[in-house]
Amino acid sequence: MKTLNVIFVLLLAPFAAGAAAAEKLTLADRGTTEYTILVPESASPVQISAAAELAETLQEISGVPFPVKKESEIASVSPEEKLLVIGPGAASKALLGPETDEDAVPYDGIILKQAGKSIVFSGHRQRGPLYAVYTFLEDELGCRWWTAAESTIPKRETVEADDFDVQYAPKLIYRESFYAGLMGEANAKIAAHLKTNGASETIPPELGGHHKYQYFVHSFYTVIKPEEFLDHPEWFSEIDGRRKIGGWWGITKKMRELVPAESLDEHGTQLCLTNDELCQTFLERVRKDLDANPEATIVSISQNDCRGPCQCKNCAKIAEEEGSESGPLLYFVNKIAEGLAESHPNVLVDTLAYQYTRKPPKTMKARENVIVRLCSIECSFDQTLDGEFGPSFADGNRRPAPDPENRSFRDDMEKWNEHADRIFIWDYVTNFSQYIIPFPNYRILSDNVRFFVNHNTIGLFEQGNYQGATGDFVQMRAWVMAKLLWNPGANQKALMEEFLSGYYAPELTPLYMRYFDLLCDASEKSDRELGIFQSDTSSWLDLDTYNACAEIMDRIDAKAAELETADPERNAGLLDKVRRERLSFDMALLLDYNRFAEQAQNEGKEFRAPARDEMPAFCDEFRARCKAVGLNRYSEGGGPDKFEQYLTDVFEKIVGGTAAE
Ligand SMILES: [Zn+2]
Repeated sequence: MKTLNVIFVLLLAPFAAGAAAAEKLTLADRGTTEYTILVPESASPVQISAAAELAETLQEISGVPFPVKKESEIASVSPEEKLLVIGPGAASKALLGPETDEDAVPYDGIILKQAGKSIVFSGHRQRGPLYAVYTFLEDELGCRWWTAAESTIPKRETVEADDFDVQYAPKLIYRESFYAGLMGEANAKIAAHLKTNGASETIPPELGGHHKYQYFVHSFYTVIKPEEFLDHPEWFSEIDGRRKIGGWWGITKKMRELVPAESLDEHGTQLCLTNDELCQTFLERVRKDLDANPEATIVSISQNDCRGPCQCKNCAKIAEEEGSESGPLLYFVNKIAEGLAESHPNVLVDTLAYQYTRKPPKTMKARENVIVRLCSIECSFDQTLDGEFGPSFADGNRRPAPDPENRSFRDDMEKWNEHADRIFIWDYVTNFSQYIIPFPNYRILSDNVRFFVNHNTIGLFEQGNYQGATGDFVQMRAWVMAKLLWNPGANQKALMEEFLSGYYAPELTPLYMRYFDLLCDASEKSDRELGIFQSDTSSWLDLDTYNACAEIMDRIDAKAAELETADPERNAGLLDKVRRERLSFDMALLLDYNRFAEQAQNEGKEFRAPARDEMPAFCDEFRARCKAVGLNRYSEGGGPDKFEQYLTDVFEKIVGGTAAE
């Protein structure tokens, strides 16, 4: 693991704090420690991990090994002893006293408390002690974990801890920063360090595990197979007077052979949600699948990723009465949830309020064991859901942004609060048509997380670039988002600056922040909605802003080279990282080269880019730079098999001098 330099910001403010002044603890000094890490007699795997993490990191900081013992291996527990106690257990209970009930700590909550000369690291049993250790190492000792491979662990001869008393539980019980860098077994530890716990985050039980789903969204045709249309057409959507079948992925060859053309629907269909036989069959299958997957605590009963709701008499009646297609959906989901409440009382039922079901019903309410997950896909993402643009990083000023789509989402969100006790959100924080190019939502992230939490959201899935390790500052985005999910009150600007300083270099931070501000300003000025499917920057990035950003990027390149030369140890690999991040801006240049070149020529303006006859070399170099960092995907659907050809097509438009699309 590589160690980086850091300027860190203490983030204790949002936590409950305020014990009487306590003495400063010296955990290690000049090669020795008087402290012992104490675990309960029958420690859980999470408690053992918490003790190991504490011991290893303290040793890395101080060079001193810290002994780890069981409660039975020490003579006594008292505030006079020098103990680092992992709770919940007998020792932590004795030190915390009767006023702190460890068993009453909410889900994922932590207790981090100084008790005389000892410290207690405790909390909710599933992850609390581990999270308490992480919080201590970060906020008290200045450790940072940036990515799976890069962290900052400050070295100190004397390790001291100041007065602290933290009891905190996140409002979001489900936190998923959906980026490639936090997914998969190789990234389990960084995902745990960043306190995320989503379904894709493969965190092992000894690090607290993660939420496990049965199915994961769009499950109608997972449970009921499209082929069943042949025997049970009445289970499927009636559209224009006829039962129809079609997947959102299109019609398969097999379906074309088996089903008469008039019963196929190219746009995709759903299920007939008022058909009792279908409902019973669906329930039995879900029960069977849950029995086979006992670790799942949430089951997704949710519409296909298309429209095509059933228009039969019974479904249409509910939709009309409830003023929304969420009526028949909730009718069905509630019935499944009622059945599962009997057979699987520990499982929650998650459904989508998505596209045609996003509008809440007039009267119907979701059962207690139902999660309604709203999706923000229609919104404009350079604006907050509160109807403003994000605050400028330079001066904090912001302007109103009356986008009707965001207002509509806000209205639905407010109303769903009256119809569901458990609300999750599926939010979008990247550009799915062009992952690589800048996506100017940099200023609204914390505002939207806070908006969701203020509207009773308890689970937040932030869908970022989950398919690439290179893109539009994906490392920073994954980290900042994870921090916001844990603590929605955190200062987003401070988090970004902290990451930029720690992961790159403090000297580059003001330049990058200026770059983000310029891009956001341009997007706001364009007066265009910023959707999540932008094929290039033509709808928002103007030539003047491009030039200003190019100048900043040149300065960052030069500064990174200078810093790496001046201090190769501290800044090892800095220029490579900076060049990797520039791929995003350079991709924007490639896609919009002709537009900018034409405008510069027509208006007699500067165009800060290689001349057209230099572009073949630039394109070759760009391709080589992509290869060097393993960048081989440009969009959600544009995977490795399409990337080379995609670049060739983009380059051809420049080198051939044809107009941009
Ligand atoms: Zn129907």
